[in-house]
Formats: sequence, C-alpha cells, structure tokens
Amino acid sequence: MSLLQISIFLGDANFIKSTIKSFDQNVTLRYFQSRGLKTVKLKNNQFFCDKSAKELVDILLKESNLYTMLTGEELLDIDKYDDIFTLKTSKRELHARHVVIASGGLSYAALGAGDIGYKIAKKFGHSIVKTAPALVGLTLQKEQFFFKELSGISCDVVIKAGEHICRGSLLFAHKGISGPAVLDASLYWEKGEISIDFLPNIKLEDLRNSNKNISTVLPIPKRLASALLNHLGIEDKKFLSLSKSEFEKLKIIKEYHFAPAGTFGYNKAEVTKGGVDTGEISQKNMMSAKCENLYFIGEVLDVTGRVGGYNIQWAFSSAFVCANSINKE
Ligand SMILES: Cc1cc2nc3c(=O)[nH]c(=O)nc-3n(C[C@H](O)[C@H](O)[C@H](O)COP(=O)(O)OP(=O)(O)OC[C@H]3O[C@@H](n4cnc5c(N)ncnc54)[C@H](O)[C@@H]3O)c2cc1C
Repeated sequence: MSLLQISIFLGDANFIKSTIKSFDQNVTLRYFQSRGLKTVKLKNNQFFCDKSAKELVDILLKESNLYTMLTGEELLDIDKYDDIFTLKTSKRELHARHVVIASGGLSYAALGAGDIGYKIAKKFGHSIVKTAPALVGLTLQKEQFFFKELSGISCDVVIKAGEHICRGSLLFAHKGISGPAVLDASLYWEKGEISIDFLPNIKLEDLRNSNKNISTVLPIPKRLASALLNHLGIEDKKFLSLSKSEFEKLKIIKEYHFAPAGTFGYNKAEVTKGGVDTGEISQKNMMSAKCENLYFIGEVLDVTGRVGGYNIQWAFSSAFVCANSINKE
C-alpha cells in the first residue's frame, strides 16, 4: 500500500504503515488466489470475488481446520493470574497463555458486534479513543428535509469534510444521505458543516449562455436540479435569462454547505472509528503494553479506513503481524 493510501486511514500513520507493510493488499490477494479464489478486477484496482464472498469465507474456514473453533458462545470476561489467562464464556471457563482480542467494533450488533473488546482493554488499563459510527449515512436538519423527497436518486459529488475531500456517488435516502462519498465523509465528520459540490468537473460559467432550461442543462438528475432550484428560490428558466444575482446564487450548488444532524447510527455503520489506543500497543506484534501476552487486532483498535476494503485489509495485516509473532514463540 503506498504512502498515499496510508493517509486514507484515521489513526497513527506510522503504526498503520509498519503493520500494513508486513502484509499488504498484494499479499492478501495472492493468499486467496493461490488457494483457488477467482477474482475480477473492477475500476480503481478494486478486486471482487468472481462468484460470491462465500468462496472467500470457505477458504478461511478450510485454513482454520487445524484449530478448534468454539462458536455460539459469548466471551464475558478475562482475568489473568500469574502467566495464565482465564476466559469466562457463556458456557465454560478456558485457560490460555496468549489471548488475542479480535472482537471488532460496535457496528451491526445483529452480526454479533459488542463492546467486550473495549471492556477488556479498559480492565487491563488501556485508554479508549472515543468511538463513533463511521462509513455511515448522515441524517439531516429540517432545512435539508427536501433531500428526503429525492430518495432513490444518486449522483456523483465531491464532499468536503474538514480538510478531507471525498469523491464518489451520493445516494439520497429516506433517512438522509448515503452512498460511498457520504460514507467516506462520515469518517471525518464529527459536528458542524460539510460542503457538497453537486457539479464536480463542471464550470457553471460554461453553461451561462445556454438557451435551454437550467434543469435540462445541469448534468444531474432533473428531479435533483428542480429541488435545488426550488430550495434556492430560483425559477427554472432559460440559463441565459438568469440575472447576475441569480447566477451568483446558483453557484451555491457547487459548494452547498450544511450541518448534518447526525449519523444513521451504529446499526447502519460499516465500521466503528476510535477504539483501543495504538500508543499502548506494540507495532511489532500487537501486544498490549499494559499486559504481557494480551493482544489486540483489527477494528477494535483505533484504526479506521475509508470505503474500499481498507478495514478488512487492516484486520488481515494486524492479524498477520500478531500471529506471526506468537507462532515464532
Ligand atoms: C455491513 C458491513 C459492510 C462492510 N463493508 C466493508 C467493506 O466493503 N470494506 C472493508 O474494508 N470493510 C468493510 N466492513 C468492515 C469490516 O468488515 C471490518 O472492519 C472487519 O471485519 C473487522 O475485522 P475484525 O476481525 O476486527 O472484527 P469482525 O470481523 O467484526 O469480527 C469480530 C467477531 O467477534 C465476535 N464477537 C464480538 N463480541 C464477542 C463476544 N463477547 N464473544 C464472542 N465473540 C464476539 C463477533 O461476533 C465477530 O464475529 C463492513 C462491515 C459491515 C458490518
């Protein structure tokens, strides 16, 4: 992963870089392809399973055959006496010399997410960087409720959230706005305004002399164009008949500022940002600096990537660094 790509993670860049370097996206790809996974390459170098994601899961399950997996039971607590950990689950007590916490974040409780990883981290003296839903849709204040009437429409946009630029598609939804560009923006948004360019790559000046109606000329869905014009109080008329002040007002759709009300919440968020502070984790092997032989990997750590497979890559890379070190022992 290049340096540029490292910058699309939230978290400690050095920590992330050294971990990803040990097991990057090319190694991940080779790992699965050499085990028979057929992939298709889409635009932007994105790889998808040729048939279904189940093939990928099956490879991982086959690789895990050597180990005993206990499923359908919940980890409730961990204690450590001398060098041995006691793990209390909903069904039994287990003992171990090494414990790796890979409990993920708080997103999608229906898929088994919970806060056990953070609880254990705190119990052993770790700090937790404040968590929040991320890669998630954004809800609207009253003034932008007209967006809800556009539910189902999508368009390409550029969103500015703080210093960050997020390009891609925006999808209008019943609850607010979603789509890849919004999910990326949610990673950086905490409170306050974002701004949306509904006409990326278009200069309004180039359309200025058109004698067609504005909603016809603007290269966005007509319903969106009409709704934006209505919101700005501009009549849908021939472009060239716009007064100077109306034309200035129309420029707002190149930089539409508003403050989202919030997010769709953890139950709709693809990831949880924040988490166990990586300043207290060894980047050599993911071991806790507070408790020997206790490790944290994946999403439970304070590392969060944009849309595009970066979070699953982080889970693989951190798992590799950790497992490699434990295996060497
Ligand atoms: C709908 C959705 C879409 C996503 N899309 C993408 C994407 O396109 N690209 C991308 O990079 N990432 C995506 N992600 C995020 C990505 O899947 C995660 O970041 C990644 O799986 C994290 O891996 P992990 O091993 O840390 O945790 P997880 O994969 O979340 O695994 C944690 C496991 O711990 C189990 N667990 C939790 N608490 C307990 C307990 N008390 N006892 C026992 N077991 C417990 C959970 O059931 C779960 O099986 C998506 C996530 C979701 C929910």
